[in-house]
Amino acid sequence: MEKQPQEVVLIGAGIMSATLSILLKKINPAIKISVFEKLDKIGFESSEAFNNAGTGHSAFCELNYTPQDKNGNITIDKAVNIAKQFEISKEFWSYLVEHNYIASPENFLRPTPHMSFVWGEDDVNFLRKRHAALIQHPLFKDMEYAEDLATIKTWAPLITEGRTGTEKVAATHMDLGTDVNFGELTRQLFKGLLDKQEITLQTEHEVKDLTRLSNGKWAVKVNDLKTSQTKAVNADFVFIGAGGGAILMLQKSNIPEAKKYGGFPVGGQWLVCQNEEVIQEHQAKVYGKAKIGAPPMSVPHLDTRVINGKKSLLFGPFATFSTKFLKHGSSLDLFKSVNMANVGFLLNCGFNNIDLTKYLIEQVMLSKAQKIESLKEYYPEAKIEDWFEQTAGQRVQVIENVDGKGVLKFGTEIVAAQDGSIAALLGASPGASTSVSAMINLLQQCFPEQMKSQWETQIKEMIPTFGEDFNDGEMVKASRERTSRVLKMK
Ligand SMILES: Cc1cc2nc3c(=O)[nH]c(=O)nc-3n(C[C@H](O)[C@H](O)[C@H](O)COP(=O)(O)OP(=O)(O)OC[C@H]3O[C@@H](n4cnc5c(N)ncnc54)[C@H](O)[C@@H]3O)c2cc1C
Repeated sequence: MEKQPQEVVLIGAGIMSATLSILLKKINPAIKISVFEKLDKIGFESSEAFNNAGTGHSAFCELNYTPQDKNGNITIDKAVNIAKQFEISKEFWSYLVEHNYIASPENFLRPTPHMSFVWGEDDVNFLRKRHAALIQHPLFKDMEYAEDLATIKTWAPLITEGRTGTEKVAATHMDLGTDVNFGELTRQLFKGLLDKQEITLQTEHEVKDLTRLSNGKWAVKVNDLKTSQTKAVNADFVFIGAGGGAILMLQKSNIPEAKKYGGFPVGGQWLVCQNEEVIQEHQAKVYGKAKIGAPPMSVPHLDTRVINGKKSLLFGPFATFSTKFLKHGSSLDLFKSVNMANVGFLLNCGFNNIDLTKYLIEQVMLSKAQKIESLKEYYPEAKIEDWFEQTAGQRVQVIENVDGKGVLKFGTEIVAAQDGSIAALLGASPGASTSVSAMINLLQQCFPEQMKSQWETQIKEMIPTFGEDFNDGEMVKASRERTSRVLKMK
């Protein structure tokens, strides 16, 4: 799209739409933004606190971000890239605190150390090598490593209780980790925008259809769920920030790019503990290694969470099965998304990913007692009566047609029309943590000319490290000192 967009429609009021609304408004204050949300609340789908794990993904603890090849070499590029993106998120949020869009950062961002924990010879060797590789980079230089239970106990006593010391274990510890309530952040961002009257946002308004008009604009058909009345809103740019519902909306747009994608829903469930005695003994997010066949979204972890001021422990996620694409979606979602264009590569993907299929079937069959057995690998003295099951958010595993084959996409994907007039965000991981970079990428994809000529400079004014490689230790230190102070992480 060559011209600056004047009228913009954003579908869905999650973290992505909130972030894009502010970016667009800061870049071009004259832009008219309308957000439509089908639920009666803001940030209540995947972005809501208990629907996701609330990990500020910085690659401090997520072992799948540092893959090991068959010769045992560890690659850290993905980890560095994700860590950079989280620093950029923190810088943007700091800018928003300083410019009165975010009122109380302490209500959504809490310092919570990030740990990785493994057992057995192979995984201990992997973690030792991972640590040695990561600490060379300024973003990870403060990461600590230990193989003795005494040190690990000082970081996370629960995971050491009941261990005899006969089994080889190892852990890394990074003090700078965070627990993020993305639902609260979404609501603070929208409140900032609404208080300044910079956007309009209508809840209980569901977008039903998207039609391309002859003048190049989009007609967005919106249904008011309270009155059942339908209206059409015209826009010269549409963002589909509908979370799990994005594939269905993308298909409605009929753009050729939509034909390349399909999705498979994977539900989630946590084990949650609110026993004060247990909770007080743990203050960290402890990530382990994924089981064979498990998608990256299912790496088990034992986490401290603080939601609306209440502390709890959470373990999981376990995969569940539902044909819904959103937690508050319809059981027909999966069936509606399958069409002549994608059925072939979706089936092909199923046949070629037997490990994943087997893993999902095994997960769905787990009883609560079996889930507690998984938890005991991390917390050997866990008692079943201290834990209850709670439904997490719904994810849609994105499947892309690559040369006729269905390929699983594990990252966060932006799909845009060639002319940049409409774009959708698909996928979940690393998700909300990298929402700022994801939305800047979207602007780069849809508005390359404007980005080059003016917008990149404006973004750099808000995010001083935007475009930097983060290889300079002094720069990393200065940026972290500033964001920790402004976001009240100290
Ligand atoms: C189990 C789980 C764990 C996760 N853990 C983490 C984590 O630890 N860290 C992290 O950074 N990310 C995590 N994520 C990912 C993160 O939650 C998502 O990337 C992020 O919340 C997506 O935000 P969104 O705005 O795209 O979608 P959402 O927050 O889902 O918002 C989409 C909105 O669109 C609305 N909508 C849908 N269709 C329509 C329509 N037709 N009309 C109007 N409105 C519509 C929905 O009601 C919803 O409010 C996790 C996700 C899950 C499911």
